[in-house]
Amino acid sequence: MIDVHTHIMTMWGEKPFTEKHLVKRMGELGIDRFVILPIVAQESPYFYFGTEDVLKVYKRHPRKVIPFCNIDPRAGGNSPETDFSSLLNRYKKAGCKGLGEVMANVYFDSPLCINLFRQCGKAGLPVLFHIHTRVGGSYGLVDDLHLPRLENTLKKCPDTIFIGHSAAFWSEISGDVTDETRGGYPKGPVSPGGRVQKLFKSYPNLYADLSASSGYNAITRDRQYGYKLLTEFQDRLLFGTDLCHIGQETPIVDYFKDILERGIISETVHRKITQTNAEKILKL
Ligand SMILES: [Zn+2]
Repeated sequence: MIDVHTHIMTMWGEKPFTEKHLVKRMGELGIDRFVILPIVAQESPYFYFGTEDVLKVYKRHPRKVIPFCNIDPRAGGNSPETDFSSLLNRYKKAGCKGLGEVMANVYFDSPLCINLFRQCGKAGLPVLFHIHTRVGGSYGLVDDLHLPRLENTLKKCPDTIFIGHSAAFWSEISGDVTDETRGGYPKGPVSPGGRVQKLFKSYPNLYADLSASSGYNAITRDRQYGYKLLTEFQDRLLFGTDLCHIGQETPIVDYFKDILERGIISETVHRKITQTNAEKILKL
């Protein structure tokens, strides 16, 4: 199994979640390989853990760790003209397979972001992002209800693979999402007209990870619909935990074991979501 979303991190006021913790937990959960996402945005409640830090961990665990790089879209001069190519290629040469988690609290389709994301596409590095509902108050790329800015970005960067994540992304699987509910973990039936599904159908460069409470809520708020979603978008979904705290629960691990054992999803679907989709888009 491949987990496409983990961190090594220290949250303000919390005991650090270290390399040792992460490697041990992944082993216990039976996850053979895992992406470690650097944290570089100053808006996040986590201390900096950059690409170079991730690469050091990768060197110590080259068969387990899949390193991502990360660059804030405002880095290098806060300009939509910044040339990131030499840095991206250096990270790629060092083993990085993607860029993210993008947590900068700027508009998703701002020229700064489009500039960075297009260059990621050119370098062959998929971009994993976190969406927030507004400017201020938290971290994450800003988008509005129904994700028009994500759509604009998918259009403007057709050669870049994007991996969606976060509550403001996953709440959009239901057509009845509102400005009040989109930042949280809406419960209950998924109503028709979800934007995420529409975007999957319209843009072949959109993928999504099922990590964290947001991804798990999306597929379990309406269990029957969740099973349908996994099968329908079996080529776009990626297993992940967002493991980053000591003692954090990871119900998605048992969920996938259970639905495979009970034959709710086929072995092929299970394998794609928990392994081969990641192998394909991260070129492992
Ligand atoms: Zn994360």
